[in-house]
Amino acid sequence: LVRLSKVNKYFGALHVLRDIDLEVRRGEVVVVIGPSGGGKSTLCRSINRLEPIDSGIIEIDGKRLPEEGRELARLRADVGMVFQSFNLFAHKTILQNVTLGPIKVRKMNKAEAEQQAMALLERVGIAHQAAKYPAQLSGGQQQRAAIARALAMKPKVMLFDEPTSALDPEMVNEVLDVMTELAAEGMTMIVVTHEMGFARRAADKVVFMADGQIVEENTPEEFFTNARTDRARDFLSKIL
Ligand code: ATP
Ligand code: MG
Repeated sequence: LVRLSKVNKYFGALHVLRDIDLEVRRGEVVVVIGPSGGGKSTLCRSINRLEPIDSGIIEIDGKRLPEEGRELARLRADVGMVFQSFNLFAHKTILQNVTLGPIKVRKMNKAEAEQQAMALLERVGIAHQAAKYPAQLSGGQQQRAAIARALAMKPKVMLFDEPTSALDPEMVNEVLDVMTELAAEGMTMIVVTHEMGFARRAADKVVFMADGQIVEENTPEEFFTNARTDRARDFLSKIL
């Protein structure tokens, strides 16, 4: 469903993505882990062209990502993204946050968009907060609203970039639970996270990234007990 071939990206002289090859199948959950500065966020951002790449090919559902224009907007809508900082529109209610994209981009009518939004908010457990503004919600609730907003676009794949690392510890699980459910329902997901419990539980594949390269791709079972590369073993020994 998502395919990257020989993707390279520079920030000036800094080579941030080096010949990245990655394939994510429909329904697969890929967890990306690795040291800070390794290029994990840049990888996520390049998959929906928030960052342009310098060379290589990125395909979503068999279609190559175009550089710009209407086509890009449409393909980008197929890729839902949830960030570390919740990125909700502060001056809009939770309901408005979730209906905005479907109305503007998917041309859904307001009533239908609201009905869908309420169902999604129900699913992430915050339907009763629909009329509130983001600042009136806890971090965990805001992040669940951000997930509902992304889902409202009916994306083919969801990208999560450290969705729980800005949360107080007691709110981490409520967000991971929503993500685990989504994974169980068959959503295709790419998840950057330091939550190793989630990786063990939900990942079909672990991708270990360092210095702009995919150093190791493995099953979670193998990766956590018997990583193939020194680099991954060294990283794991520091965090586990
Ligand atoms: P972290 O775990 O800290 O989130 P990461 O793996 O997500 O790290 P990236 O944010 O992708 O890493 O950054 C990769 C490298 O690119 C880092 O050296 C970073 O300083 C650099 N970088 C990221 N964004 C930019 C930018 N907009 N301009 C210049 N350099 C950048
Ligand atoms: Mg990052």
